[in-house]
Amino acid sequence: MAQLIDGKKISQEIKDELKEKVEKLNAEGIEGALAVIQVGNDPASSVYVRNKKRACEYIGIRSESYELPEETTEDELLTLIETLNEDPKINGILCQLPVPAHMDENKIIRTIAPEKDVDGFHTQNVGALVVGQKGFVSCTPAGVIQLLKRSGIDIAGKHCVVVGRSNIVGKPMALLMLKENATVTICHSRTADLKAVCKQADILIVAVGKPKMITAEYVKEGATVIDVGIHRQEDGKLCGDVDFEQVEPIAGAITPVPGGVGPMTIAMLMNNCVEAMTR
Ligand code: NDP
Repeated sequence: MAQLIDGKKISQEIKDELKEKVEKLNAEGIEGALAVIQVGNDPASSVYVRNKKRACEYIGIRSESYELPEETTEDELLTLIETLNEDPKINGILCQLPVPAHMDENKIIRTIAPEKDVDGFHTQNVGALVVGQKGFVSCTPAGVIQLLKRSGIDIAGKHCVVVGRSNIVGKPMALLMLKENATVTICHSRTADLKAVCKQADILIVAVGKPKMITAEYVKEGATVIDVGIHRQEDGKLCGDVDFEQVEPIAGAITPVPGGVGPMTIAMLMNNCVEAMTR
């Protein structure tokens, strides 16, 4: 039976550590505040935003909500971001994605001051990751690193295969594994013989966005399997990009969905918010 990597427990540990840090910072007179912007009322985004605000409350930082109507213009949103950039009481700014189709997502990300970009999406922060300098790292991949480290899984020297090359998961994930001295292969929709490549992995990280796509045939016996995917099935239950029932018996360690990578994203967002307080 595979070791179950418990994201719920690890994310709770991280939030408790952050709560202590915030108490100490508050005692030194340093306060934290995150501005959370949501445009429109997409139900999934509303759930994410609510959970982020709840996590802020838990660790002891203030959150300021900006709920803007769907018909907000891009200029109005950019003006708000610029105001928040200048506001010394705000350490972190996040704009919940996706934004409505009439807005340019990249332009919005670029407008957030890099030192307040707690999502780690600004090209300056992405660039810092590429060249190994300090900056905010995208929360989901940063959370995967914490899952591995805190579960006692060695990364250095291991062959890590990342399936997916999105800007928010796959690419930063590969860079972080490289930073941890893994040998890294990145796969995508044009990879020839994906199964054979995945089967070479000591650590297989899947962020492909296709329910249960990764079956037992993709996994080497004893491999660590990290499932970033999250999907709502017809019966209402959640599943990942990995077929857990098939893969668990052959994996050495595996993340469940839910309760694996999911809870880590918000914990790492909180980590970035606390880092923003100390800058
Ligand atoms: P994207 O859709 O942006 O990227 C998917 C990637 O998978 C692309 O690079 C794509 O390749 C690749 N891909 C698609 N089909 C195949 C295939 N058949 N074979 C090989 N590669 C393929 O997704 P995200 O990175 O944003 O998210 C991935 C998953 O993670 C989703 O399920 C999402 O819901 C989940 N997620 C979970 C989070 C969490 O907190 N747990 C946070 C963020 C995402 P190509 O580039 O060639 O198109």
